[in-house]
Amino acid sequence: MCLLLFLVHLPNMRIGIMQTAERLTELRRILAEVCNIRNAMSLLHWDQETYMPVKAAPGRGEQLATLASIEHRTFTDPKVGSLLAELGESELSPDDVKLVEVMQYDYDRATKLPEAFVSTFTKETSEALEVWSQARKESNFSIFQPKLERLLDLLKEKAELYGYEESPYDALLEEFEPGMTAGQLRPIFSDLAERQSALVERIVASGNQPDAAWTRAEWDEEAQWKFTLNVLRDIGYDFDAGRQDKSVHPFTTDFGLYDVRVTTRVDPHDLFSALTGSIHEGGHALYEQGQNPGDQRTPLAQGTSLGMHESQSRMWENVIGRSQPFWRHYAPIMRDRFPGRLQNVTAEQMYAAINRVEPSFIRVEADECTYNLHIIIRFEIEVDLMEGRLAVADVPEAWNAKVQSYLGLDVEDDANGCLQDIHWSHGAIGYFPTYALGNLYAAQLFETIEESIPDIWTSVESGQFTPLLEWLRENVHRHGRRKKALEILRDATGKEPSSEPFMRYLEKKYGALYGLSD
Ligand code: ZN
Repeated sequence: MCLLLFLVHLPNMRIGIMQTAERLTELRRILAEVCNIRNAMSLLHWDQETYMPVKAAPGRGEQLATLASIEHRTFTDPKVGSLLAELGESELSPDDVKLVEVMQYDYDRATKLPEAFVSTFTKETSEALEVWSQARKESNFSIFQPKLERLLDLLKEKAELYGYEESPYDALLEEFEPGMTAGQLRPIFSDLAERQSALVERIVASGNQPDAAWTRAEWDEEAQWKFTLNVLRDIGYDFDAGRQDKSVHPFTTDFGLYDVRVTTRVDPHDLFSALTGSIHEGGHALYEQGQNPGDQRTPLAQGTSLGMHESQSRMWENVIGRSQPFWRHYAPIMRDRFPGRLQNVTAEQMYAAINRVEPSFIRVEADECTYNLHIIIRFEIEVDLMEGRLAVADVPEAWNAKVQSYLGLDVEDDANGCLQDIHWSHGAIGYFPTYALGNLYAAQLFETIEESIPDIWTSVESGQFTPLLEWLRENVHRHGRRKKALEILRDATGKEPSSEPFMRYLEKKYGALYGLSD
């Protein structure tokens, strides 16, 4: 009877399979078109940040706006919705199931915001950016306050449009770290705040600050640049599928799997800033270059979340690039790059200088021990704003009190306080936590890496980074968006996400560097 049923159903099934295959081809065709438009936009952005002459700015804005609306229209076409609905009911291969699932997710998010809302939001944020930069220049929060109030209203509206279960903050966080909520972050962050503040206090009290003044002398820019290229090549960055250029703020962008570009900033008075910028962006780029070639021009070929992306950049920059074995390998190479300048500086002194800990006002200049504290300050303020416990007018006061409590510093002006970051003017509330999550994910992944590759540090000390890169390719990169960040973490480490590995990492490294007793 089973056989009979099978035979009777066979003709229908064949038609079903044909239709499914055609629908998939059509969906992939539309996706490829959307990806092509997005990649062209990224190229225009890249040019804007690197080589574009200043007078071209208004024209470039118009070009980007046109492409953005074509992209949005193509992606949110109701035809895409019905293709997805039909495919959602069809028998698909596990790979196609993932593709349809991720597409459906993006489609739902994109169609939840009415066009009128999107255009108001775009207009308000572009005005807010101007006002924020004026306010920062004058170091006066009250100039920015009305704009931020307006943006906050829009963000609350956006959260309602997206929908959420517990906190409106979750709807915004979802954009940057899918699956994460304020409720999950709160206990992790409050524990970190307490333990990192205590560690920083012990470091400051130890009085064992290494000398780093020598790194602030004048350093040849060309030699710095060549050194960054050298290190990028060593860690496995593929220059046949990318390039490095200079920009004011270092960033990574890609126009597909085989064109992943990085930038860095060369400061003639800082020996390490171009290098750390390059390694950081190199870590992001390795993630993109490691995507599965079969996923090209689909939304699967992307980092799964900003937190996971940051885990890659921070692992290369901090765990590797600020490690003792790394400096034992690169100290002689660095001496060759700067003839006659570093012959009296040992690898240990380079290692100590690049890891100097000092509480400071500015997030982007913060060291590994204080960095998360800057993030936690922003997270707590953002959640309070979104949940209605804090008024925009009271942001500076709340900010300054938190800086005093977590970093022990008195904020003197808004420019070095609540006006320092560009994110809020972009309407990007919910973005900051991904930086701290990057640190936590990196530490947790790296504990497993040390177990899986017992001679990892011997490799690093001999300038061999392939074992590490291969592990990351296999366990993180190639999955793209097939797995969410927490899934990658659980599958790779066999453990629930936790802040313990990061605290163990900090306490061990800085305990030794600063001679802290247990
Ligand atoms: Zn980054």
